[in-house]
Amino acid sequence: MDSKPDLNIGFIGAGNMAFGITKGILCSGEVQPRKVMVSAPSSNNLGRFQELGVAVTHSNTEVVTASRLVFLAVKPHLIPRVLAEIAPSVTREHVIISVAAGVTIATLEELLPPESVVLRLMPNLPCMVQEGALLFSLGSRAGPQEGAVLKALLAPCGLVEEGPEVWIDTHTGLSGSGVAFGAGRLLRDSGRHPAQLRSDVCTPGGTTIYGLHALELGGLRAAAMGAVEAATERAREMG
Ligand code: NAP
Repeated sequence: MDSKPDLNIGFIGAGNMAFGITKGILCSGEVQPRKVMVSAPSSNNLGRFQELGVAVTHSNTEVVTASRLVFLAVKPHLIPRVLAEIAPSVTREHVIISVAAGVTIATLEELLPPESVVLRLMPNLPCMVQEGALLFSLGSRAGPQEGAVLKALLAPCGLVEEGPEVWIDTHTGLSGSGVAFGAGRLLRDSGRHPAQLRSDVCTPGGTTIYGLHALELGGLRAAAMGAVEAATERAREMG
């Protein structure tokens, strides 16, 4: 495999994370939008990809047949269904990269044909403003070359590191979910309301909402409001 990311790239799932990675990889100019194809069952999220010049489809198998690198960017519970659908089209030429939180390499490899090359990636939404923190792990049939290709492709998204799979869950809690806990540049550059941004990174019952629950229990929001209020009061007293 060529170490330059001059490959056709597919995304199965057209949600927030697929969009974040797509925006990140296109901004370098090294990947042309016509090299990218995205699929989703509805047209709800496809328009913003079309605005980037990316091809869109409702067919997951079309993405697989048109692409060399295929990102699985659907919610974790949909992974078995999507893999059952695309497995007959996956060949040893494909590199399958899952961003699904909590879905292990062993599970992915079990659900795909035996020769499939799999990597697991934990990105985060600041990819779209080139401030991402991305960690990936190689599956049992992925080698340094596939790792190098993925690293080069994702370099414009932010900091990209390879590590053992046992680190991925920690990275999920820290960086994948961490966006909901504070992300200044993304907030400034995305033009999104903070509550919308927080919702973009939360899956019902997922990792991020569990982290947010812990913050609410700890009274973080009230503490932050109280801190600003107390400082303001003190400034008034001193004035
Ligand atoms: P999302 O915004 O809800 O997007 C999910 C996408 O999957 C939607 O475009 C949806 O289609 C599509 N989809 C649903 N069923 C499908 C099917 N059968 N075949 C193909 N596409 C299908 O979710 P997300 O936040 O991007 O999360 C996607 C994955 O990224 C998750 O596994 C999550 O763990 C991981 N992740 C997310 C973040 C984050 O910050 N969001 C960070 C790290 C990892 P419609 O457009 O038609 O609804």
